Amino acid sequence: MKELQLFREFPVLENELPHVRLASLPTPVEKLTTVGDKINIPNLYIKRDDLTGREYGGNKVRKLEFLLGKALRRKSREVATFGFAGSNHALATAIYAQKLGLKCTSLLLPQVNAHYVRRNLLAGFHYNARLCYCKNFVLLFGMLCCKLLAGYLKHGKASMIVPAGGSCPLGVIGYVNGAFELQKQIVEGKLPEPDFIYVPMGSMGTSTGLILGLKAAGLKSRVIPIRVIEENLAGPKKMMRLAQKTLSLLCKLDPTFPKVKIAKEDFAVRDDCFGPGYAHFTDLAVEASKLMKDETGITLNGTYSAKAFSAILKDARNLILRGKTVLFWNTYNSRDLSFAVKNHDYQDLPQSFHRYFEEDVQPLDSGYDK
Ligand SMILES: *Cc1c(COP(=O)(O)O)cnc(C)c1O
Repeated sequence: MKELQLFREFPVLENELPHVRLASLPTPVEKLTTVGDKINIPNLYIKRDDLTGREYGGNKVRKLEFLLGKALRRKSREVATFGFAGSNHALATAIYAQKLGLKCTSLLLPQVNAHYVRRNLLAGFHYNARLCYCKNFVLLFGMLCCKLLAGYLKHGKASMIVPAGGSCPLGVIGYVNGAFELQKQIVEGKLPEPDFIYVPMGSMGTSTGLILGLKAAGLKSRVIPIRVIEENLAGPKKMMRLAQKTLSLLCKLDPTFPKVKIAKEDFAVRDDCFGPGYAHFTDLAVEASKLMKDETGITLNGTYSAKAFSAILKDARNLILRGKTVLFWNTYNSRDLSFAVKNHDYQDLPQSFHRYFEEDVQPLDSGYDK
């Protein structure tokens, strides 16, 4: 049985697209009964993408199935990726690259401090990623070029660059599949068709793939992308371009893939739960994390999923969601990494990362997500 719903619907794509199985799909959909009671949304559901991969969950795994699939098809020996110091994407890439026998380099930019940054750095180290600190985007670009050249000289083949957040058209297809997977779960009666699907938006791949996939699957659910990163890095125009490119790729590989219309109205982005900046926690997001943790035991992340869930909290209070079916698409890993972290000392990391361990975390980080 084909695991990806997208491949069941479009078998040609399975032959054309690089893909390696990393996640156990479909991820479960659950009703959040007690949380729903507390905030007056009786039809509140969660999509458990925190459980995508056995070693590490979260939204990056669906994209990496295609991106690392491409690295294998190309016979690359190494991959390089980049993000901010606490990047979940860089960690996911390190974990699954190692599993597939690929060497991984992560180029990491500075960010505001939090407990999860410490854990992700140590876990990346545990999974043998080469962690490099880059003070700014210019340095990052320079290092990326050096990396390409070095890979070429060493293996006669450049390392494959995995884009930030895995959000290129090939990675986005992971979430086009996510939408078809949801449609199947709706048909099977696991949940009614949602009115709204709330999802955090960083490098835009998750929300773009969902919007495109839901349209192609003929669903009417509206995706609410909650922007959690600076506006110059993510917004409706960039999303539409990414959607267009992804659609072109799918239609080129399989001419029977629905040529849906990419319309501006479908790419409205919510900016009001962002707060003071990327990875800066907000009061409402902290409250949202606490509610989720207390009622379900599920950990949200102050940079991403807690901000998306805080939008649900806010809209529920403003009575916008009365009588609606709401799906919270949980993008943050729930697999335990404590075993990977506990035997490592931050002193083993490159010096530039020590400050995340020696300086305080931001005041709103109360340690839900360590
Ligand atoms: C990367 C990430 C996101 C953002 O998804 P994009 O596809 O980059 O928009 C959301 N939540 C979590 C937990 C993430 O790590």
